Amino acid sequence: MKSIDQTNFSGKKVLIRVDYNVPLNEQFEVTDTTRIERTKETISNITGEGGIAILMSHLGRPKGEVNDKYSLKHIVKTASAILGKEVHFLGDVLDPETPNKIAALKPGDIGLLENLRFHAEEEKGDLEFAKAIAKLGDCYVNDAFGTAHREHASTATIVKCFPGKSYAGYLLYNEAANLDHVLQNPVTPFTAIIGGSKVSSKLNILNNLLDKVDNLIIGGGMAYTFLNALGVKIGNSLFEEDMVPVAKEIVKKAHLRGINLYLPIDNICADKYAEDANTYTTTQNHIPDGWEGMDIGPKTIRMFADIIKNSRTILWNGPLGVFEMKKFSNGTHAIALTVATTTISGAYSLIGGGDSIAAITKFDLGDYISYISTGGGAMLEYLEGKALPGIKALNEDE
Ligand code: AMP
Repeated sequence: MKSIDQTNFSGKKVLIRVDYNVPLNEQFEVTDTTRIERTKETISNITGEGGIAILMSHLGRPKGEVNDKYSLKHIVKTASAILGKEVHFLGDVLDPETPNKIAALKPGDIGLLENLRFHAEEEKGDLEFAKAIAKLGDCYVNDAFGTAHREHASTATIVKCFPGKSYAGYLLYNEAANLDHVLQNPVTPFTAIIGGSKVSSKLNILNNLLDKVDNLIIGGGMAYTFLNALGVKIGNSLFEEDMVPVAKEIVKKAHLRGINLYLPIDNICADKYAEDANTYTTTQNHIPDGWEGMDIGPKTIRMFADIIKNSRTILWNGPLGVFEMKKFSNGTHAIALTVATTTISGAYSLIGGGDSIAAITKFDLGDYISYISTGGGAMLEYLEGKALPGIKALNEDE
């Protein structure tokens, strides 16, 4: 795919698909501006060259109907503050007045179209709707990595309307490049740390990573299904009975491929899922009935840290315990610190997934990680080895 550095946007009306699906509070104020901030570089580059930036996005799930609650006009003030210049609200893509509003914009200006999902055709990937959007601009830039796994009119179909004039913005380009770096050219030893609550939601990632990693560390709630599969008593810990055969299969595959698979060897247990629970640390792996594993124990931390310290590429998705509760955050904190210090000593690290980002932010270690992927569902599908329609469309463009 072509990056925006491969062309000049001077005097061009540039349709830029961004992911401004940001959280709003009851006063319709943006409560997390990260997604807007991460598009700034692309937009500034285009407007700096004298292009006219026409931003387009979805917000929430209006299900094909106009709904003021999901209007992108609510984010105009915040976007203007972050992008450093007035963002002109352009109204709906099919409103006959919209082309006039765009014609009034000058080189370097920024406009924002109304929520594209007010039209059901957007999510259907409808070609006629894509053509209607395309009429408003001279070329297309996709900087919405978070929506790249959707085959929608503004994320994939529209590329057909701009043959040879479709580009990847920096955010999309960098997300894909960093994920490719890990999946295709990892410096070895390559270690993946996979945590979180459920085996079922990470199953495809685990399977895809089995072809690529040297070490696979499994922690968090999902580790207990693996431990159960190996005959370990797990008490009341998180458990997915139907995933036991799958867990056994993964353990077997790892063994046959010579991949080192590491599971917790001790646990911090609680007598209830609560901050004020009584806790106890197992000296070996078995967890008695009435207790549930909430975090990895000190021996496990040491074992996982030794593996991580000797790695040159580290991929981390999913916390290693219930890190939201202080009592059960030590494991995730210790591993976050180890990943950060190993990165400082020259390893490459990539962290992704909402809870892993929340953890690294909570421990204030984000500056010491090589790349933090904010792609959410799109990143998970990329790690599963799937071709994302938004990226595929750009790759197939001439
Ligand atoms: P995921 O969205 O699958 O990455 O899961 C993240 C969630 O897993 C977080 O909210 C953690 O609190 C939770 N989690 C991690 N370890 C455990 C555990 N041992 N028991 C229950 N939940 C856990």
